[in-house]
Amino acid sequence: MTVLADAATQIFLSDNVSPKPAAIANPNSGSYSRRDLYEERQTPESGIGAFATALIPLGTRLFCEESIILLPDDAGHVELYAAVKKLGKEEQELFWGLAASTKAGKDVEWIDILRRECDEDISSTFNDLVEAHEHAWSIYETNRFTCKSLDGQSKSLGIFPHSARLNHSCSPNVFHRYNPVINRLTIHALRDINIGEELLTSYIDICHPTVVRRQYLKHWGFRCRCSACDSPDDDEDYRRKRIEDLFVKLGKREIKMVKNERNWPVKEYERSLAIVVKCIKLLEKEGMEETDTLGVVYAAGVKLALQIRDKGENGDRGGDIVDMSEEGVEDAVRWAERVVEIQRKCLGEDSKEFVAAGALLEMARRGRVCRAERS
Ligand SMILES: [Zn+2]
Repeated sequence: MTVLADAATQIFLSDNVSPKPAAIANPNSGSYSRRDLYEERQTPESGIGAFATALIPLGTRLFCEESIILLPDDAGHVELYAAVKKLGKEEQELFWGLAASTKAGKDVEWIDILRRECDEDISSTFNDLVEAHEHAWSIYETNRFTCKSLDGQSKSLGIFPHSARLNHSCSPNVFHRYNPVINRLTIHALRDINIGEELLTSYIDICHPTVVRRQYLKHWGFRCRCSACDSPDDDEDYRRKRIEDLFVKLGKREIKMVKNERNWPVKEYERSLAIVVKCIKLLEKEGMEETDTLGVVYAAGVKLALQIRDKGENGDRGGDIVDMSEEGVEDAVRWAERVVEIQRKCLGEDSKEFVAAGALLEMARRGRVCRAERS
């Protein structure tokens, strides 16, 4: 995940809406992929892909997969190879069958480590061993998913061989994320998917303009040919650039606000809220209806609206009582409902994000109750 999405997640999950994991139901902890709804087959240009074999309704959980390899994000070639060798026969086959499209890195220190660890009598096959390590690393770099811990403080990288078959699009129809509550990678349909459509997830944050997305995608060694990248529509690219700019602006304002919360004037919250509203309009136009973009922005909007209300109640304008308009309170509730809907669709009810969204909705509804009592 890039800095941009990290900032966005911070907006969404910060302060008093943090979830209580103990309260999260865990009904769906098995590992599965819905082979009744899709099949793997060869694509003309992108290796093997996954294609819908039935109509897949929006929000369907298509994958709920446990990793076969999970390593700290600073693990190297030698640790990876050892982990692969520990796998059972079937899992090793799955691993070696995955695509390897990244180029060899500049780091060669691992070769010295490997040489030191090897017995002298394998010196004749040492070159083969180096090549096998290199190939395993390329598979790992091409297919690994980021797995954040429940508190978001630590990060591992995992191989989920069935989910790894999904190709990329900058206008994805599914959404993937590791769910630390159930220790599985989940993939959900972002919209209704028709029979024959390829299931496509985004390997990167999608709210970058095309030029930037191309840079990020170089890691996987392909040029994206999705509708957003090949679109001759300059307006679409402009809107994504605007979204990226607004996200950065919002992230910076959030950091400043957190540092200076007591003295942050109401008009500054109102300015941030105006940015949120602009962002929502652009995102809806682009159809970016997933957790990291629209969900984050709606959540930021709810929190800003509630902060404006709280500031008003505490008389922070020095006697000039700020009272959110009826419309503002209604917006907060409506937006919070959208966050709940987006998290259910993208991540499911067993995700910490869904629980956080529920808490946010409660807060927004309390805002409405308070106002009704006053009037
Ligand atoms: Zn693309």
